[in-house]
Amino acid sequence: MAAPATTLTPSPATGRGVVRGAAQLIFRSFPFPTEPGLRVFGNPDRSSPVFVTCNFDHTVRMVAQVLERMGLDCYLLVAPTGGVNVWCASAGGHFGVDEIEAAIKLSGIDQLVDHHRLVLPRLTAPGVDPKQVRSRTGWRVVFGPIDIDELPTWLDESFPRLVADVVTFPVRRRIEMGIGAGLWPAGLLGIPAALIAGWQAGLLTIGLAYLMSVLFALAYPRLPLAPGLPQALPLGVLLGAAGATTAWATGGGVFDTVFWGITLALMGVLIGLDFPSWSPTDVCKQQLLCFLYPATLAPPGFLPVVNEETCIDGCDICVKVCPKGAMSIQDDNHKATLLDPAGCLSCFACVQQCPVDAIS
Ligand code: SF4
Ligand code: SF4
Repeated sequence: MAAPATTLTPSPATGRGVVRGAAQLIFRSFPFPTEPGLRVFGNPDRSSPVFVTCNFDHTVRMVAQVLERMGLDCYLLVAPTGGVNVWCASAGGHFGVDEIEAAIKLSGIDQLVDHHRLVLPRLTAPGVDPKQVRSRTGWRVVFGPIDIDELPTWLDESFPRLVADVVTFPVRRRIEMGIGAGLWPAGLLGIPAALIAGWQAGLLTIGLAYLMSVLFALAYPRLPLAPGLPQALPLGVLLGAAGATTAWATGGGVFDTVFWGITLALMGVLIGLDFPSWSPTDVCKQQLLCFLYPATLAPPGFLPVVNEETCIDGCDICVKVCPKGAMSIQDDNHKATLLDPAGCLSCFACVQQCPVDAIS
């Protein structure tokens, strides 16, 4: 049988790729679909690994870069997730059994390999029920690492085992998130600033919004206050005071002092309120990023409760699959429990992955 048609993502090093990458960085909260289906890397044979990802173009390009860099002979199935990234699609019910089944059928991968094992990104765990995937498609699901850059190490040391993995983001990813998150304060404040105080003030506001957003993204993991208003209000006061003081100290009159004081105070509040939704460490609590694709799997404020009667001795799947390390096995009875309720994202991964439905 002839191999299915393949589509390789153009290299981002081309001019078009660079422009597309920049647009996706700036407008990161919008879906950017790429064609679902099969990508082939190297010269895979019938035992080569099969990876699955979403059809958010930026993600597909990132995954492709890693697979190309590794020189791995493998297949990549791009599931039709509406152009939404792995985390949002999965938490919002757009990257589940239906999408995986569609990717398998669309690609004809059944005809290309002898094994039936899919490697999924770890952050699909909230939306993918492996039992259902198995019963509907005959394919077994294994979860890889959270960060695609960890894939080579995971393949070398752990494949196909599930290993505990907690979300953290390197500086480069935080800068990208900060740039993406800067769109809202830049747009919401830059345009009024230009109309009220002239285009120079508008441009300065936009530049400051991006700068503050990136700085906030970098500082975010170390901030002592809780996400949302507790972070946003002090940030607004701090930036507002800095804006007013600087305007006054550099010879601005009453108008400039009030204008920059208010503009930067609003900027601080907007960034502080919105940014947590850009980090998977809080996305499920804030549920702002997913406003286009609302996270529907877990009700707001959901905290998992383990039924100790049903929980299996010796199992630790929920502990390993939790992206925050919030679940733990108790020493005395060897049953799972939510050890860190404050750290829980209500992401639903533990509920979805428990083999005996012991978590609700
Ligand atoms: S996944 Fe389910 S069975 Fe396994 S430890 Fe957690 S609660 Fe128990
Ligand atoms: S304990 Fe909370 S954060 Fe961890 S997997 Fe369960 S729902 Fe998600």
